[in-house]
Formats: sequence, C-alpha cells, structure tokens
Amino acid sequence: QNDLLSATGTTVFTVMSALAVQHGAINLGQGFPDQEGPEVVVRAAAEALLDNRNQYPPLTGVPELRNAVAGANRRFYGLEIDPLSEVVVTSGATEAITACLMAVLNPGDECVLIEPLYDTYLPVVRMLGAVPRLVRLAPPRWELPRAELAAAFGPRTKAILLNSPMNPAGKVFTAAELAFVADLVQRHGAYAVCDEVYEHLTFDGWSHIPLMTLPGMRERCMRIGSAGKTFSLTGWKVGYITADRSLAPNIAKAHQLLTFTTPPNLQRAVAVGLGLDDAYFSGLSADLQAKRDRLAAGLSALGFGVLPTQGSYFITADFRPLGFTGDDVAFCRHITEAAKVTAIPVSAFYAGEGAPNHYARFAFCKADAVLDEALARLGAWK
Ligand code: PMP
Ligand code: GLN
Repeated sequence: QNDLLSATGTTVFTVMSALAVQHGAINLGQGFPDQEGPEVVVRAAAEALLDNRNQYPPLTGVPELRNAVAGANRRFYGLEIDPLSEVVVTSGATEAITACLMAVLNPGDECVLIEPLYDTYLPVVRMLGAVPRLVRLAPPRWELPRAELAAAFGPRTKAILLNSPMNPAGKVFTAAELAFVADLVQRHGAYAVCDEVYEHLTFDGWSHIPLMTLPGMRERCMRIGSAGKTFSLTGWKVGYITADRSLAPNIAKAHQLLTFTTPPNLQRAVAVGLGLDDAYFSGLSADLQAKRDRLAAGLSALGFGVLPTQGSYFITADFRPLGFTGDDVAFCRHITEAAKVTAIPVSAFYAGEGAPNHYARFAFCKADAVLDEALARLGAWK
C-alpha cells in the first residue's frame, strides 16, 4: 500500500464532526453554513436535472459556467479571461488544488507552503514527489515573515501555494504582502497556486486582491474559486480555476485523470449564481460579518482572547484566559464533551514541530440562534 496515504490521518474536520454528532454538540468545527444558498441557484440545478442535463459535460466545464467565470473575473477584478482556453471547472476547490499542483510540479521540485495550511496541501505535494518548503505564520498577528519567505525560495522552487483569505487565520493578504510574493515568484520563474475560495467573504472594507492581478502574475497564477463558499452550497463541490492559456492545458489533463468532469446540472446552476447582482455578493459578506461580530463579542465576553478576522468563515480564539491548561486538541475535545460545542484545534493546520497549540477555530457561518445557543452552552460550562 502507499506509505504516504497510510501515514495520512482522517481529516480533522471529519473527526471533529463525528465527535460532535456523538456528543450532541453544536458543530462550530467543520466550516459549512447551516443555511442553504440562494433559491434561484438551487432551483436552476433542479431544473437542469429535469432538463436532461445528466450526461458527461465537456471536459473543462459547460460553456455557461466557463463564460460566467470569465465574466466574474472581469466584474470583480478587471481580469480579461478567455472562457474557452483559460477556465477549467473541477469537482470542488479540493480537486482544483490537486490539479494545479499536478499541472506544474515534477518530482524533486520545491513547493513553498505557508502554515497554517489547509489539510490537503502537504500530502498532495508529497504524493507528487515534490519537496515542501514550509513558512510559518503565527498567531496572534499572522504576519508574513518576509525574510523567511524569501529564504524558502531557491533554484529548485517551482511553485508557491497561497491561501487568501486564509483558513483558519481569517487573514486577508495586503497589496504590499502580495507584491512581495509576486516579486519572489517572478524572480524564481515559479508559479502560484492561489486558493481563493473565500474571495467573496471579506469584512470591514477589506477586499480580496487576487495575486493574478499584480504585474507579471497573469501567466504565473492559477486562481481557484469554490461555489461551495461563494453560494453557501458546500456539498455541491463545484470549483473553478482561472489560468493562462499556457497553463490551462496541463490543468485540464490533471482534471481528466482525477474526475474527468463535474456534474453538468450543478455547473449550470453555479453559472446562474455567478451572474447574480452585486447586492448578492455584498449581502453575503455583510451577513457573515454580523455573525462574526456576534460570535466574537460572545466569546470575548466569556474571556476568550479573540483574534481579528478579516475574511473566511472562522474566528480563532485563545482559550488560555479561561484557565484551561491542556493543549488545543484537548480543549476542543473537552468542550465537545462537556459544553457540547465543537471547535477545531488550530495546531491541526501546522505540520512542523512547535505549532501554536492554544487556539481554537470556531465557524460562525451559522444561524444567529445557533451561535447564541453555543455561547450559552460555553457560558454554562465555564
Ligand atoms: N481551500 C480551503 C482553504 C478551504 O477552507 C476549503 C474548504 N472548503 C477548500 C479549499 C475546499 O473547497 P471545496 O469544498 O470547494 O473543495
Ligand atoms: N473547508 C472546511 C473547513 O475548513 C471543511 C472542509 C472539509 O471538511 N474537508 O472547515
């Protein structure tokens, strides 16, 4: 059997969701909204299902969705994208990440990864025989350590994987940080896999800047979006990659090997979603911002050291002020069992030794009543 897979544990999100079910806990662990996405989008999928749209679609995605992805790139970021040759639709951002890494990495190539990192990045880089170079961001400031990042780039660097807005840190990379990354990518002739699944979930006037929009980056970036996050339909697993025509063919071949195609009915519905007016997108982030504020205020009142969140579904909070002396894994298990509220240990997003282990990640993409009940339970437990 494959040693790397044998050594890969079950994802922390599945482990904690199962524990939540076992203990009847409110699940603020795995990041999924408890309210469904826009009815017009769901209805479009239902109609496409009944409209005989159930056979293999084109390999790179149905034309409606590729056009809609190109349109969204123009509308939100001023990027001119050819829907025929520069968009690849995948079965979720998860597949997109793997397809983009497959597209550019050869065995022995180095790939720069930034901790905290989403749990698929590292095993996939290793499975491809590439060599991960980890650079660590640490709470509470999650600052980009520029000298360390520069030192991680070298003659064998082929790619960097950048996640902004960042899970679990809630960090949105600034224009200056992106310019620093862009300069390194350019100087090393590398590529950037840009995991931008939370692109529309930003708060307080922070806006997401795709690395791809920076000078010299148009041909070097593979920009990944997710209908799961953009339309609160995480189970659909529809992702989309925007990449220069020089990169898209290899990405399409990776997709051909992984899943070949993605359900056509869902694709057509996501195309409808990407065509929604600006009010939908601003409403989505405004709603989430209010939920962030609700949960942040409640956790702060309970004594947690709540860190700022500029984007994503997540708050990270230091639990030491509550007097809990175990690590984050113990804390998240303990509150699941004793308070009946589930969170994710932030150390799960670190691969190396000495990870921060006194922060818990709470998802706030839940109904207000659910957030209030979770806070009440934590209050009663404390
Ligand atoms: N990247 C990040 C940073 C995520 O948090 C997630 C979780 N949804 C994904 C990728 C995967 O997205 P999808 O569900 O579209 O595969
Ligand atoms: N992206 C979601 C999170 O970070 C969950 C995805 C998953 O369960 N694999 O919680």
